[in-house]
Amino acid sequence: MDVFNEKNKKFLFEYHNNAAPTGAEKSGQKLWASFVKPYVDELQLDIYGTCYGIINPGKPFRVAIESHADEISWFINHISEDGFLRVIRNGGSDHAIAPAKRVNIHTPKGVVKGVFGWPAIHTRKGSEDKLHASLKNIFVDVGASSKEEVEKMGIHVGCIATFEDEITELNKKYFAGRGLDNKMGGFVIAQVAKLLKDKKKELPFSLYLVNSVQEEVGLRGAEMIAQTIKPHVAIVTDVTHDTSTPLVNPKIHGEVSCGKGPTVTYAPAVHSKMIELVSKVAEKNKIPFQREASSRSTGTDTDAFAYSNGGVPSILLSLPLRYMHTTVEMAHKDDIENLIKWIYHSLLELDPEMDFRYFVP
Ligand SMILES: [Zn+2]
Repeated sequence: MDVFNEKNKKFLFEYHNNAAPTGAEKSGQKLWASFVKPYVDELQLDIYGTCYGIINPGKPFRVAIESHADEISWFINHISEDGFLRVIRNGGSDHAIAPAKRVNIHTPKGVVKGVFGWPAIHTRKGSEDKLHASLKNIFVDVGASSKEEVEKMGIHVGCIATFEDEITELNKKYFAGRGLDNKMGGFVIAQVAKLLKDKKKELPFSLYLVNSVQEEVGLRGAEMIAQTIKPHVAIVTDVTHDTSTPLVNPKIHGEVSCGKGPTVTYAPAVHSKMIELVSKVAEKNKIPFQREASSRSTGTDTDAFAYSNGGVPSILLSLPLRYMHTTVEMAHKDDIENLIKWIYHSLLELDPEMDFRYFVP
């Protein structure tokens, strides 16, 4: 398996460098669809932009492997008379990292550049030295001196702003960048489809390769698509916190490190029989993995699938990620590769005849 060959890497970089903010994922979905097209029998798009490919359509048993396509961003929600823009979150965007960041504002006239301004250290003396970024005090400067000038540039309330940062490699081991949460998931499931095609594997079920929209605002795309596809099993992949870096407490957040394998999450929404299956698959194929637990919900699309259609056996396999929701999210290449293998081999073990009941009453 050559996951990071030239062709795959080209897609990975294009897909990550493109902006696919929540609610406006179209350009990302187009890139994703054109990459997966040769590996699926059918491609579909739902009404809010969730894109899915089907391998083996028409079988009575349906399995979904899923990631989310959207990335966090900002909405412009106010333009002042002197030409500064205020923002609100679109997803869990982090005000703490905003100051001094460059943004792309997506307008009907195309991308307009802006920066999150911040008062100079010299002007923050005394009590002002305690100034911290908050949603109330961050603002975007586009170099305009009036509201009128801003509007002439094509910017209006409701335009979306994304950070400019792109993906890079670190030490040949890591990718670092914006929106690895969860474009890396889209890359992973695309690679699973490619692997099935390359190895000429025939599955005894229909496989739905799902790239959902609107996860970052409450799993909305997954809620919609779960009803459309009505899968019998869902394998969801997202990112999870690496807790081995400074200032993160593993005793509170669990012990997960990049490079030690993808994780499986234990949570009520995660089906025990699926955990058994993926654990055996990992052992059999020598795939390293880590365990973590979630109280109540997983906060991922897993919940949306699990609690749809009277209950869908679902599992969450996650990619350890450093610095989530910043512009320097980091993921380890080995984990990405192992996650692809894990999902691929789990699909090969999945039997449509399997009885998912916890016991026979
Ligand atoms: Zn995510």
